[in-house]
Amino acid sequence: MRTIDDYRPIVGDAVVDTLFLLARQLQGRCIQNINSTATGGGVAEILNRMIPLMNQLGVNARWDVIKGGEKFFNTTKKFHNALHGVPTDFAPDEMEHFLEVNRQNAAEMDLCGDVILIHDPQPIALIEKRPAIGRSWVWRCHIDFSRPQDDVWRFLKDYIERYDSAIFSAPAFARDLSVPQVLIAPSIDPLSDKNRDLGAEEVTAVVERFGIDPEKPIVTQISRFDYLKDPVGVIHAWRQVKKYIDCQLVLAGGGATDDPEGAQVLKEVQEAADGDKDIFVLLLPGGSDIEINALQRASSVVLQKSLKEGFGLTVSEALWKERPVIAGAVGGIPLQITHKYSGILTRSIDGTAFWIKQLLNEPAFAARLAKNGKEHIRNNYLITRHIRDYLLTFLSIFHTEDVNFLH
Ligand code: UDP
Repeated sequence: MRTIDDYRPIVGDAVVDTLFLLARQLQGRCIQNINSTATGGGVAEILNRMIPLMNQLGVNARWDVIKGGEKFFNTTKKFHNALHGVPTDFAPDEMEHFLEVNRQNAAEMDLCGDVILIHDPQPIALIEKRPAIGRSWVWRCHIDFSRPQDDVWRFLKDYIERYDSAIFSAPAFARDLSVPQVLIAPSIDPLSDKNRDLGAEEVTAVVERFGIDPEKPIVTQISRFDYLKDPVGVIHAWRQVKKYIDCQLVLAGGGATDDPEGAQVLKEVQEAADGDKDIFVLLLPGGSDIEINALQRASSVVLQKSLKEGFGLTVSEALWKERPVIAGAVGGIPLQITHKYSGILTRSIDGTAFWIKQLLNEPAFAARLAKNGKEHIRNNYLITRHIRDYLLTFLSIFHTEDVNFLH
């Protein structure tokens, strides 16, 4: 089992010692996380890693999951879509049912934390319990909130404003709210299967299993098949490069079988690939972490040609593997890449093609970008920084309470 000390060689002793120091100030306090699923999805993934690490630091962190039936989760999926700007209609009884399920959970759960940290909209209405039990309540939003549908936003806002504060992942997701907002960027775990070091043979074995030639340059984009990731634009850019440089293109991602739009995008990608033997369109099943890790490591250049993006974790993942990355200048990507220093930012197919050529032709320049990129991720987007931000947020809550008590 992985321990917090395993991170020392990666981030340095000072970073881990600081976490212990901060954690000590939280002794005797319970931090209770609540979300809606124990497995699957980014929130469960981060909690699965973070809770054991916090416990090792000496923080009494616990994690509870609300229960709900099919109707509840259909409604919350609709919330999710509506918050991402997909026009969605709600039947009046859906909101009622949503609240009813939250009330049932509130009645059955042991809401014992000194801080109750509610993740995402599904359990947001547990806050109704606050007048009865007190405690500090923080709402943690993991989703892209930049253009939510108005009615859902108003419904949720009424609940968010009953919390002490709200945490968002990027400045663009912050909203006009009466409660303080905290910015905590996401992170990657350098010791997970997705990101840990792999031996050269392991990387080659994966690449060859997909029929890719490990000796010929590989240009890769790992993404769900989604229009906003512009996979067809990637193919057009690659074709411009291919006229001059013999290289392969890998477009790998999942989520296309259970998502009607994903299936359509995949079809368009396959049409655009037009049977080219140097284009590998790989539909990855969930849990393909080692495969993604190996494909990123095997690449001469990694692309993330998004037209819209949340934070863009694939960029952190590739930079961490010291790969030169060319990515769209959208969402959280410019936080991760300083143009021509730690990667390349582009805004067009022609620009992407130009830079792929440059980086393939100038490996020393590409290596410099990659090295700088890796250090930037080490300093800012690893799980240790993420834990530090949470601990500081909890400390600030208790500090404010103590100051209020003194007055
Ligand atoms: N990912 C994955 N399988 C896939 C495609 C993507 O596990 O088939 C992972 C990818 O490695 C990254 C995350 O899903 O960790 C995608 O996060 P990102 O912020 O890049 O984009 P999102 O999909 O959230 O828009």
